[in-house]
Amino acid sequence: MCNLIALTVHCGPGDLILLDKSAHPLTNEAGGTAVLCGAIPYPLDGTRGMFTPDQLAEALVPPSRNRPRARAISVEQTTNTPGGRIWPLEQMRAVCATARQYGLATHMDGARLLNASVATGIPARDYAATFDSAWIDLSKGLGAPVGAVLAGSATFIESAWQWKQRVGGAMRQAGIIAAAGIYALRHHVARLADDHRNAKRLARAIAGAPGLAVDPEGVETNIVRIDVTGPGMSARAFADRLLAEEGVRVSTPGQAVVRAVTHLDVSESDIDVAANAIRAVAERFAASR
Ligand SMILES: *Cc1c(COP(=O)(O)O)cnc(C)c1O
Repeated sequence: MCNLIALTVHCGPGDLILLDKSAHPLTNEAGGTAVLCGAIPYPLDGTRGMFTPDQLAEALVPPSRNRPRARAISVEQTTNTPGGRIWPLEQMRAVCATARQYGLATHMDGARLLNASVATGIPARDYAATFDSAWIDLSKGLGAPVGAVLAGSATFIESAWQWKQRVGGAMRQAGIIAAAGIYALRHHVARLADDHRNAKRLARAIAGAPGLAVDPEGVETNIVRIDVTGPGMSARAFADRLLAEEGVRVSTPGQAVVRAVTHLDVSESDIDVAANAIRAVAERFAASR
């Protein structure tokens, strides 16, 4: 809802929102911005969820009467489906500078911004400061049961508040939810480092398992992306067997991609159990060939 509201404040019907091809508003929000705002999410062919100022400029010029009006960019920190990758601050600033040069609004989908901040030591406000709007998720790694916080200028928030009302986001009893969010912000930020350590531990433990490709060096935060490469294996088949035979759940964002996410309910010893399970299933697949 934060992405939907922010992009709807920034854009109107027929406007372009430029974002990476893997970005959440394009791939995971049921086309909400197209339906409710009428804006067109325009995918850029970034790397690991991140695009460059040149790629952005390439999509914007030459201006023409026949083109839809480009109105906003959206940047995902950390990148979700590409595996929890962190946008370098300089690249973010450069992309936003290019966007401003062309008169575009800048939005950050900071669902996991605090993961990036804990991993790099760069304050969340430094990442957010380069955008017109930004939000964080209080659930996900922070562990609150529900909730998110959207930030922007007073004028932006005034409009955002109206859109929140329109899309059914008003809640009279929000205090109890805010309390859990405040608890999460006070107690669950620094410990995101544990999740990052656990994700790395998982990736290292399963690297080299037959039919799986995982890059422990590429694990920057709390997401482990595993490519299922064995002959005849699919992500679905692997995930189904892992659950049926070992009781471990992973998601399957692609035909041959399995995704594991660490969070405050998963301990270091749970990671070892999961790693052994993943290895065991990979070996059984290999043996049955
Ligand atoms: C989780 C997430 C969201 C919000 O998704 P909801 O399912 O609506 O909470 C948005 N962007 C990214 C990158 C996310 O990971």
